[in-house]
Amino acid sequence: MAGHESRITGHESRLVYLSLGSNVGDRAAHLACAIPLLNEAGVRVVKQSSLYRTEPVPGTAGPPQQWFLNCAVECETALMPRQLLRATQAIERRLGCKKLILRGPRTIDIDILFYGASRIRARDLEVPHPRMTHRRFVLVPLAEIAPGLRHPLMRRSVAELLAACADRSQVVHHLARLPGGNGING
Ligand code: ADP
Ligand code: MG
Repeated sequence: MAGHESRITGHESRLVYLSLGSNVGDRAAHLACAIPLLNEAGVRVVKQSSLYRTEPVPGTAGPPQQWFLNCAVECETALMPRQLLRATQAIERRLGCKKLILRGPRTIDIDILFYGASRIRARDLEVPHPRMTHRRFVLVPLAEIAPGLRHPLMRRSVAELLAACADRSQVVHHLARLPGGNGING
């Protein structure tokens, strides 16, 4: 973490990691739209992973879902955790998020994976995200941008968590960067 922490600018800023996913409509465009909206909300995106095509989690009610596009982003923010959750939920609503079925199809889903090294356990917010260690579609993109980042509870790096992950669902590299060029990653 030391290398990451050294990049925090203001002493009130936190380094946070988000997972973004979409499986409805123009999936890449939905993910790309979220980046400027995050920046406007005070969540400065400093690194983003490639886009991956990922198999929907089996066992969801209803007809088979389209594959998702997923990516992970590293951000700096002075927002407190619940402010961050409200900001990400406002972006989900703005991009027309339809979460009709639990874990079902959605225009965009934004999950807070890590908020610095904080541990939060509340009804509406759990950080680190409790299901991230079981999901290759979260760990593969995250390992691309932060392989050495340590999970504050598991005390293992993201790369180690990925190597140990029992999930066998497919995660296929799709695009090296989000469409539309937003100036991140050089
Ligand atoms: P999932 O992302 O696990 O597939 P949903 O996006 O449908 O499921 O779940 C949304 C709910 O999860 C929201 O009501 C939100 O309050 C709650 N939640 C709890 N912890 C987090 C987190 N770390 N990031 C995003 N949402 C969270
Ligand atoms: Mg979610």
